[in-house]
Amino acid sequence: MENIRIPNDATYSPISLTDVAVAAPIAARLLLGATLPGRVIQAAALGLYAGSVAKDWNARKGVRRVDFVAEFGSDVDRLDAQPVALRREEVARLGHLLNEGWTPERPDRAELAVRINEVLTDYIAGITGQRVETSSEIRNVTLASLVFPFAMGACDMLSGDVAIFKDTGIFEPHVIAHEFVHRKGYWKELHAQALSYLACRGSGDPVLVQAARAERMHRQLRVLSREDPEAFREAVDHAGLRDELKDAFRALRPDPGAVASVVGSGMKQVYDMRLKMTGQNGLSDYDEGFTNFLYTFERSPSARQPRSQAAL
Ligand SMILES: [Zn+2]
Repeated sequence: MENIRIPNDATYSPISLTDVAVAAPIAARLLLGATLPGRVIQAAALGLYAGSVAKDWNARKGVRRVDFVAEFGSDVDRLDAQPVALRREEVARLGHLLNEGWTPERPDRAELAVRINEVLTDYIAGITGQRVETSSEIRNVTLASLVFPFAMGACDMLSGDVAIFKDTGIFEPHVIAHEFVHRKGYWKELHAQALSYLACRGSGDPVLVQAARAERMHRQLRVLSREDPEAFREAVDHAGLRDELKDAFRALRPDPGAVASVVGSGMKQVYDMRLKMTGQNGLSDYDEGFTNFLYTFERSPSARQPRSQAAL
């Protein structure tokens, strides 16, 4: 099997180089004015960042990417709309499967990241015949968490730096896998959602399978409740979930504070626009697009991958 290693040097730096590159010029300007030392700091920060980006860029050139239409019969521009009745049916079945397969195991984040990276690398290699080795490092704090308060995590596509902003409990393996898909060079949100689900769901690891099913149910509930937090809570309460699961789902949609909700909705619109300008369908790719992708794959007559991979 062919092996490609993307160095991801930036991810091993003790502080986020993305933050240094963004914040150092501002800090230097504030502290030192547009003086020579200020410019030196700025240049050094950008140089460090650019060096890591260039090495990764070079390594990524040899990567064979998953062809979504050929493998799954589904992609960003090839999605069939799943009927509402089938969404409701799926929610009921997922609730049942989650109750039955419940595991309280909560591995340490760093250990979990290594496990997930392995599963993801294997899954993609099974499709492309090529192992794309990437870093398993994760950060807890970056500037991006202040700018995108509604996000659970982020990946800087240039440097491969991944940050997880909050503890989402049973959902965390999926969030990590989603960001790691980006790190392997897939920048579209639908692709990150889909590959994360398929890899975790097929892993045979109860913690990862639980995360995949929980994410699928979470996204179905968001579609069915049409982004209304009250309707979402109601749907969770009536899903017949055991208490631990119910609490985990409730925690996903807390009442945002007044300021956070204004900042959050403003940034959401900007982010939605950014997605649409880059050949994606918008924020809907996280939930409606993702669930439609699995629905389309499940029924595809031409998919090369076994359709059983889209199982609940
Ligand atoms: Zn993403």
